[in-house]
Amino acid sequence: MRSQDHQPLLDIINIDKSFGALKILKGCSLKVNRKETVVVIGPSGSGKSTLLRCLNLLEPADSGAILFDGKDIAGDLRNAPAVRREIGMVFQNFELFQHLSAAENIMLAPMKVSGLSRSDAHDLATDLLRKVHIPEKADFFPDELSGGQQQRVAIARALAMKPKLMLYDEPTSALDPEMIREVLDVMAELSSDGMTSIVVTHEMGFAKRAADQIVFMESGQIIENATSEDFFSGTVNERAQRFLDQIL
Ligand code: ADP
Ligand code: MG
Repeated sequence: MRSQDHQPLLDIINIDKSFGALKILKGCSLKVNRKETVVVIGPSGSGKSTLLRCLNLLEPADSGAILFDGKDIAGDLRNAPAVRREIGMVFQNFELFQHLSAAENIMLAPMKVSGLSRSDAHDLATDLLRKVHIPEKADFFPDELSGGQQQRVAIARALAMKPKLMLYDEPTSALDPEMIREVLDVMAELSSDGMTSIVVTHEMGFAKRAADQIVFMESGQIIENATSEDFFSGTVNERAQRFLDQIL
């Protein structure tokens, strides 16, 4: 066991983020243990995406600390390339490279960043496409795939760098209802295999199945942070409950 293995993988300590005069994150703190899955819910505009973007340094936090595997990465965008190798991110709109096939989307970073040979990268892509249950789609381009398949390629692409942490920002909210399940199933499988994950989603079935912790955000603050058991047994803060009543 390495010396850091008993520490949380991620320890967010009191981070703030403003855009101009607008305070978007106000003193957010959150610990994520290794192999844990955290589901983040909350109204539109409450700062969920901004929180994730601060974690992989798409935005610098203004103050506070983000200890990732024991190292403070907050605020300094020079850490971004190293951090993004270790933190995979999946977006609502997939963000695949349209001119590359599914396999090539997955192969790109391992070849460019990790220096894998084309043949090793291709083997990796084959494994990952199997993991997300679309091995037959390797040579398809994004516009030849359904939304659910594209999102699974995006997940495979993020996994190709063997990240320590996966961030998902509303990964199923652009999908037709019949495709939501296939994406959530892949995410839940990864979680149960021990992939540490933070998932912004309002899919409470997924939360029930996969989450260890559930975080409720409102107006830039983490209002509630409950274990899944407490959350689903109804021991929830009143504002979180009101929000849940609206979405369920
Ligand atoms: P959520 O993901 O919970 O819907 P966001 O984190 O996207 O919330 O946004 C929180 C608030 O921050 C919103 O009011 C949004 O308009 C604002 N915001 C997000 N990104 C920026 C930006 N780059 N510049 C200015 N305001 C932003
Ligand atoms: Mg958002």
